Amino acid sequence: MPESLPHQEPDFRDASCRQMDVSVVHEYFFAERRDQAKRKMAKRICGGCVELQACRDYALEIMPPVGVFGGMDEYDRYRISHGGAS
Ligand code: SF4
Repeated sequence: MPESLPHQEPDFRDASCRQMDVSVVHEYFFAERRDQAKRKMAKRICGGCVELQACRDYALEIMPPVGVFGGMDEYDRYRISHGGAS
């Protein structure tokens, strides 16, 4: 028996961002760093998402280079993965 299960991508079917128009997701979840208002809005949407914890764990595992995932942008992920507070 393997010691750990093979990596599996979570099922995000019910995720808040999956219920939104793709262009809106792109605009807010992949906003430029200088556009903090849009990033904050994306993080707020994550805060109400049923997949928040799974998405957060997955994002910290795969470390997407840009974008808001699990309520974190790339700077949050970097800070947390290097021992900073979440
Ligand atoms: S936590 Fe945010 S990025 Fe992750 S699935 Fe939910 S809405 Fe999408």
